[in-house]
Order: sequence, then C-alpha cells, then structure tokens
Amino acid sequence: MTHLRIAAEEAFALPELLDHYRKLLASGAPLDPGFLSLWGHYLGKSAQATALVSRIQDLGEGRIRDMDDSGIARQILSLTAPGVQVFEPATATALAISLNDQLAEAVRRHPGRFAGLAAIAPQNPAEAARELERGVKTLGLKGAIINSHTQGEYLDDPKFWPIFEAAEALRVPVYIHPTTPPPAMIGPFAECGLAGAIFGFAVETGLHLLRLITSGVFDRFPALQIVAGHLGEALPFWMFRIDFMHRAMVANGRHPRIGKLRKKPSDYLKENFYVTTSGMAWQPVILFAQSVLGVDRVLYAQDYPYQYVPEEVQVTDNLPISDADKQKLYQLNAERVFCL
Ligand code: MN
Repeated sequence: MTHLRIAAEEAFALPELLDHYRKLLASGAPLDPGFLSLWGHYLGKSAQATALVSRIQDLGEGRIRDMDDSGIARQILSLTAPGVQVFEPATATALAISLNDQLAEAVRRHPGRFAGLAAIAPQNPAEAARELERGVKTLGLKGAIINSHTQGEYLDDPKFWPIFEAAEALRVPVYIHPTTPPPAMIGPFAECGLAGAIFGFAVETGLHLLRLITSGVFDRFPALQIVAGHLGEALPFWMFRIDFMHRAMVANGRHPRIGKLRKKPSDYLKENFYVTTSGMAWQPVILFAQSVLGVDRVLYAQDYPYQYVPEEVQVTDNLPISDADKQKLYQLNAERVFCL
C-alpha cells in the first residue's frame, strides 16, 4: 500500500459552539424540532452522547489516536451540523469567524494530520462570502462547509449565490453536509423516528443538491464544485429517472421552475460534484457510485465521530479495484478537490 488514507467528512465542534447550543435549548424560544432532536439528544446525559461530545471537541491527541487506530492519515475537518446556521445572522457570522480561527489554529498545530473547511453563515450571504475568502486566503482552509438548509431556506435561492461566486472564484469546493429536515418537512419523519442520519438527512440533503442542479446554479457557475457525503445522498441511484422526467417536464412546461438547462441533470452530477463514502462502508454502493460518476469523483470519508468504526477501512481496502483506483479513492481525489 503506497497511498495515504484521507478522510473527508470528519466532524468537530468546540465548547463555544456547544455553549451556544445549550443556551438555545434552554432559551424557551420555539425551536427547530430537528435541532431539538439532534442536540437535545447529544447534549443529554446518555453514555453514548457523552462519549460523542467528548470526541467531537477533541482537535488534538485523542482524535489523532483514533485516526491512528483506524488507519487514517489525515482528516478534513468540518463544523458539525447544523453549524452556526440555527442562530440569528449577527451571532452566526461572529461565531463562524471565531470557530474558523480556532480550527485554523488546530490545523497549524497538526498540519500533516488535519485540514479544514470554513464554516460560514448563509443567513448573511455577503458576510458568508467574505468569511469564505478570509478562511481560504488568510487561514489556509480548503473550502466551505454548509450543513444543508438554513432555517428552511435552500441555496438555489439567488440571494445565496454570492457564496457560490466566491467559491468558484477561489477555486474551492462547498461541502453540503446533511442536517435534520426543516420544520415544513420534518413531521412525517419525526413521528416515526426517521428524521436523522438513518434516513431524513439523506432525503433532505438529496433534495437540496437536486435543487441546485434544476435551478441552474451550475449554468451560472460552471466551475463550481460541490462535495456531498453519503455517496451523493442517493442521487447517483436516481440519475436515469431524473434525466428522463426532467426532459419530459421541460417539454410539457409542467412547472415554472423546471426549465431548460445547458446539460442533462446527470451531467452536472458527474462534472460539478464529488461524493464521499461517509457512513456508507458497503462495497456494492461504492462500486456503483464509481461506475456511474467515475473513479475520479468518489472519495473516502469516515464520518468521525458519529460513525467511528476502527476497522472500517478494511471494506475499502478490500474493494475489487486496482491499486491506482484505490489511491484515487483514498488520497488523490481529496488532494485534487481540496488542493491539499
Ligand atoms: Mn457527517
């Protein structure tokens, strides 16, 4: 084995963020039910929650020990869901700046082991674009992390496009990571316990990614690169039918927001997206994603600490693919998209 294993969707939080989460939970204000289900659980008293909260705040020796124990050379760190996106704009913007400074400090302490993505607050798109630029140019961060919807709003709304304009100009990717579905969507998921990573995350985030495609974001920003976890939140599996129905809907004019694009929806998925294996340590779906998106578009991720299984890399180590393709999966694709 000559490759390094880089893990591309590895979460952290810091005491400053968790203090804000605790305050929000205790505020008595009407809360996003998704946020309540997520952080009401993790900031609770169960042993599993306590262990998770301890791991997720460690940007030093403990995390590096876990990386060594699981064969990971380097983590691409990103602020955990829902990041700063649940706060009012001024708080969110200030918090993103502070957390990015602390992340960059951790990367400076362990430059060979960590790289990081800049947290931004889409609530204020102009400030978010500015913080992305500062994160990349001043702090050496490698792109942006956005935890899907921001208080029920999606990035296909042109008011958010200054963020994409900045990412394209800086030539860095935007990682769109899941969060729980927004209030308008969560009901049927929450009532049966399926709002979280078990299913709701992927449905909501897959919708978000598809909205970017059908709204024409990539006709406006053709060089923009999006990274998606969980092997593309099921979109690769849907590609044939999405193309078929999109063509039919354009032809019959069935909805004003399904209009002609320069390319087929699947073309954007192949040319403007990278997907990571986070949480999907299963050979058939990894091979499927590689076969429909190309081996240059699929990269390894672990989803530490949420899905930390020390022996997990055996699954990808044992994929029936060439060593050259394995090196792309583990190392070269990540080095290219994140400019490591
Ligand atoms: Mn994750």
